[in-house]
Amino acid sequence: MFHDRAAIVAQGGRGGDGALSFRREKFVPRGGPDGGDGGDGGDVVLVADPDLRDLASLRGKTRFRAGRGRPGEGSNRRGRDGQDVVLHVPVGTQVFAERELLVDLAHPGARAVVAHGGRGGAGNRRFATPARRAPRIAEPGLPGEERTLELRLKLLVDAALLGFPNAGKSSLLRRISNATPKVADYPFTTLAPVLGTVEAPDGRQLVVADVPGLLEGASEGVGLGDEFLAHLERARLLVHVIDAHEGGVAGRFRAIDRELAACGAGLAELPQVVVLSKADLGGPPPDAIEDPRIVAVVRTSAVTGEGIAGLKQRLFETVPGGPAPAEAGAGQELADFLVYRPRPPLRRPFRVFRTDRGFLVTGRDLSSVSPEEIEEALRAAGARKGDRVTVGNEPMVLA
Ligand code: GDP
Ligand code: MG
Repeated sequence: MFHDRAAIVAQGGRGGDGALSFRREKFVPRGGPDGGDGGDGGDVVLVADPDLRDLASLRGKTRFRAGRGRPGEGSNRRGRDGQDVVLHVPVGTQVFAERELLVDLAHPGARAVVAHGGRGGAGNRRFATPARRAPRIAEPGLPGEERTLELRLKLLVDAALLGFPNAGKSSLLRRISNATPKVADYPFTTLAPVLGTVEAPDGRQLVVADVPGLLEGASEGVGLGDEFLAHLERARLLVHVIDAHEGGVAGRFRAIDRELAACGAGLAELPQVVVLSKADLGGPPPDAIEDPRIVAVVRTSAVTGEGIAGLKQRLFETVPGGPAPAEAGAGQELADFLVYRPRPPLRRPFRVFRTDRGFLVTGRDLSSVSPEEIEEALRAAGARKGDRVTVGNEPMVLA
């Protein structure tokens, strides 16, 4: 089964706590503060992997948690950073959070952090001042971001195959490309879209898709079509395959065309290359089809290889080079990936510290912060019911 969607929860690692520690030396009764900082929490990262074709690898598991930062230690030792979790997804994966597009991993190797780890807390040595030589406070690490994400795979298709069941689409794709689709004598064999890369002698590549359910079974109400239609938004050419040896070519062309118009998505306006397949089987001479969208008619046989080289050449002539029209505008400066809504780093208008007696909250304008927000931050920092907490100058006990 082809998976073009996955829902995951990504959680950045919590930052490590800063250490509260003092130097111990033989002849120094009270050494200076030497508590190191906590390490940063790991990130959850997505990477566009050109070897992947679907999101199946993310189906079994839904929660991905990056590693925690280690706490700081005495002797000014910084805690180690938490490990990133790196998830490989196919090129063309789009990431949504609350229905908003966050990131479009449109290029091989593109990376995006989808959940940041929390910053590590500062150790007590950072709070030493001439007036306060022995600070008894350290900062707990911040929690990592947690986000619920929907991933959708948008296939980058240059041309799509089209035609009745058994017209010879899968066989043709296998012949012109590196794809190995299933071929069978009965309709609906092709259940998952199969992409094949067609290579020109000069190194150019085209992605041709055999998309199931686009038309196959549409009249029977099977209606797999809509799910996959979105993948064809960027297609620039249709390859219309008609089994020529049965005759009645023009009639079948029109029948498919009616279905195509019903599909919408602008597919009916695309230029078409008509392939008259199974040339090795003979049959009556095909009738001429008059249609302004047809840019070429090619007779082929997947068995003998007749017409295959000519078809490939036609495809490269017809599909313009460079980025697809949909990308052309912004596409020129298309970065590795597009971030539509960058997130500010996790910042609060106040800071939480751990002291040797409990917790301390400081900030320039604490009255503007809701008590709930402070309480949540305290709990995230590890404060429990009954702990002593000082907010600004007010001592209290966490309820
Ligand atoms: P699809 O349903 O359009 O994908 O069609 P397939 O590629 O699965 O082919 C349907 C049937 O036609 C299979 O039995 C193929 O072996 C056969 N076929 C496909 N292309 C050719 C061809 O060029 N010559 C001959 N003789 N048979 C073909
Ligand atoms: Mg097929």
